[in-house]
Amino acid sequence: MKKITVLGVTGSIGTQTIDVVTGHPDEFEIVAMSAGHNIKKLEEIMNQLPVPHICVLEQKDYDYLSEKYPDRHFYLGQEGLIQISTLEETEIVLNAIVGFAGLLPTIEAIKAAKDIALANKETLVVAGHIIIPLAKEYGIQLLPVDSEHSAIFQSMHGEYPREISKILLTCSGGSFRDKSLDELKGATVEQALNHPNWSMGAKITIDSATLVNKGLEVMEAKWLFDVDYDDIEVLIHPESVVHSMIECTDTAVIGQLGTPDMRLPIQYALTYPHRIPLINSKRLSLSDIGTLHFYKPDTERFKALPLAYRAGRIGGSMPCVFNGANEEANQLFRDGKIKFLEIVDLIEEAMNAHTVVENPSLDELIKIDADARAFVRKRVGL
Ligand code: NAD
Ligand code: MG
Repeated sequence: MKKITVLGVTGSIGTQTIDVVTGHPDEFEIVAMSAGHNIKKLEEIMNQLPVPHICVLEQKDYDYLSEKYPDRHFYLGQEGLIQISTLEETEIVLNAIVGFAGLLPTIEAIKAAKDIALANKETLVVAGHIIIPLAKEYGIQLLPVDSEHSAIFQSMHGEYPREISKILLTCSGGSFRDKSLDELKGATVEQALNHPNWSMGAKITIDSATLVNKGLEVMEAKWLFDVDYDDIEVLIHPESVVHSMIECTDTAVIGQLGTPDMRLPIQYALTYPHRIPLINSKRLSLSDIGTLHFYKPDTERFKALPLAYRAGRIGGSMPCVFNGANEEANQLFRDGKIKFLEIVDLIEEAMNAHTVVENPSLDELIKIDADARAFVRKRVGL
């Protein structure tokens, strides 16, 4: 029985984690979970599973739930997230919170020697230089949930790290893969939220449309697999069948293929190094698909990608600025306050205005993240 804390249980990854767990009640037990604002969904999950420890963000939700469910333990806010991530009985923390807010619980969970199944990629982008050494120091496993990184992780098994020459990170191209620059100028929130292959939370779906998501994933790969930026290549692959690949020194290319179903990387992070059946899954039929396509990304239309490489290569606090400015701009776009192409323009401006801090501490990162967000809001007159 693996005992799990799930952070962000009401989201896209969180609810798919519930699916995985309820499919194998003899393998997994959720001992704690957290939710942001969707309390209705949280109550549904509470009625489905007798999870004893629950964290919410708002005092009013905490008061309401504590009164209605006196037999469960409730926790509140950032402090609560840390408490449920460091519980004695927790073996692994699946972090499916979206954004910078996932950082502190990850760090504290590692310090409490918990393994981490990481969906919250923003955490590694911003603070890889803190998290990776900490994971080594505490001897914990940091297991990727992001489908591409899970694919790379699976492809690396049995290979010697020094014999891997390159990572081939595949990318669906997002909702606007085939749109011209002119069409992108007038792109609406509704169009951007309509992803061709994956059903995901709103923030990451917009990030996929701008290709910021792939940029974040390039930086995530750098930290997870200790590779140089020159050795990470992004490939547009519209079918989302090859979830990513590695190239070895002898030119062998190894990849992981499958249907686009996030439950596989979620489950694998929880069962690693074992595999168990994936309940209610479709098998991949390559003969039905017939043809697969791969091509280079268009960095003129999608300049988020070269910008992410730039942020990653500069390093220090620059990825934190890239991420913070994006989180703010992404939200402003969803709120109808800015246009689609402005998202990446604002990230670039925030980066240009930033003076890099080498090896930033956690406190410095918190301030730099807040400053990047404030810069973006000010820039658009808010
Ligand atoms: P989502 O928006 O659907 O869910 C986010 C969850 O986090 C919700 O439970 C929400 O209540 C909670 N939350 C939001 N803000 C919070 C805060 N400030 N403090 C505490 N909790 C908060 O997001 P998602 O699509 O499930 O993505 C979660 C993470 O996983 C992101 O980092 C994303 O990049 C990554 N990811 C998602 C997918 C996917 O298919 N959805 C794939 C790969 C990686
Ligand atoms: Mg991904």
